[in-house]
Amino acid sequence: MELNTLTAHELIDLLKTKEVTCDRIAASLETRIKGIDSKVKAYVRLDKQKEFKNSGAPKPGSSSLEGIPVSIKDNICTEGYNTECCSNILTGFKPPYDATVIRKLKDAGASILESKTNMDEFAFGSSTENSYFGPTHNPWNLDCVPGGSSGGSAAAVAADEAILALGSDTGGSIRQPASFCSVVGLKPTYGRVSRYGLIAFASSLDQIGPITKDVTDSALLMNVISGYDPFDSTSINVSVPNYRLSLGQDIKGIKIGIPREYFIEGLDREVKIILEEAIRELKNQGVHSQEVSLPHTEYAVPVYYIIATAEASSNLARFDGVQYGFRANEPTRANLIEMYKKTREEGFGEEAKRRIILGTFALSHGYYDAYYLRALKVRTLIKEDFDKVFKDFDCIITPTSPTPAFKIGERMEDPLKMYLSDIYTISSNLAGIPAISVPCGFTKAGLPVGLQILAKPFNEEILFKVAHAYEQRTAWHKMKPKI
Ligand code: GLN
Repeated sequence: MELNTLTAHELIDLLKTKEVTCDRIAASLETRIKGIDSKVKAYVRLDKQKEFKNSGAPKPGSSSLEGIPVSIKDNICTEGYNTECCSNILTGFKPPYDATVIRKLKDAGASILESKTNMDEFAFGSSTENSYFGPTHNPWNLDCVPGGSSGGSAAAVAADEAILALGSDTGGSIRQPASFCSVVGLKPTYGRVSRYGLIAFASSLDQIGPITKDVTDSALLMNVISGYDPFDSTSINVSVPNYRLSLGQDIKGIKIGIPREYFIEGLDREVKIILEEAIRELKNQGVHSQEVSLPHTEYAVPVYYIIATAEASSNLARFDGVQYGFRANEPTRANLIEMYKKTREEGFGEEAKRRIILGTFALSHGYYDAYYLRALKVRTLIKEDFDKVFKDFDCIITPTSPTPAFKIGERMEDPLKMYLSDIYTISSNLAGIPAISVPCGFTKAGLPVGLQILAKPFNEEILFKVAHAYEQRTAWHKMKPKI
């Protein structure tokens, strides 16, 4: 039995009975990474860093992940180890502190991988192609993208190069790659998990969340990383339930809304059929489903790309060659402004520059009201659409992405086409609600499809309940790519 192919909960059981050791788990993962990461490219800086950092015994009172390796996206700060957001501008940046989620993982005894997982630069993208280090490849078809921006984390989990992984989700960056790689990805409620130490993309939308092999592992990781943090003023002081108690429950009588605006033109025919089959499976288990309407869905993409770029342009203003990472080689020392310009010109990739320009424009004098302010108002309408549906329904089910994974390079020339692929994931970030993607089938070409479940704020429990019930009756999550 290859230990790297097991889930965290399976490994925890084997550790308890002393059938395996932490060192053996780490060794099997290292062998796997050495064996296939040259093809998948899920990790960055593998050559430069040691792979594991054991945290030791869990602190009293923490849930235990003792000896379980966790892979971390390159935008989550790890004290003393490179955290570069896969951007040239952060080359060599070693944060002086751990993100709160990292501290919590260490308190639980987890073993942190020093090499980080690949991502689109600053999490700008849906394919991981915008990484300074080059793209990650989808383990199910190496010619395809793994999704993004947390493509490295999703591909690593899918290819058994990781046991558990963390990603971040601003508009779908955990769920869409999870769906493309046939793993489980959860974006928690805004404020559920601390953003302290997550390098900000769009501060009102970003959340850190788990990418895992199954729903049980997702609950396990959420138990560790959730909770109020005084270091993050947007984290919310709501008590954290034990998410494992949501597993293995009866879902009879649960009311599910199917939004009609999500089943329209642009949705791939095979994805639609697979989704309908998944809904039938849930109905067999006794859920009630009914069509509902989220009438402002069509505005989600434009609203998101105004708000997210506006916030990104101001968050990225701090990268100017003075405090962090990269500084252009021959700055004209006499002129500070020239130094800023040259550093930013050479430090940021094309998509980052595009977003800085778009966001600065949306916030500029004379355009602020027409774009940014109006986008904020429509964001409220989108949130109200969800509030209305959740008065009568426990959750909403949609596809995670309108298409399966696309070919590397296919959408790079057309940013608008790339942006439109986020249509099903963006609204939950705008509304701040939790959403999970679980594997629900494969296309004829063998590419994975994901089912997305959304719920009210702070009701991750119902997501786990429904997702786990579905998972118990299907075998999609057990299938492994052949690489
Ligand atoms: N694909 C979306 C974007 O490019 C979402 C990215 C994310 O969630 N970080 O903005």
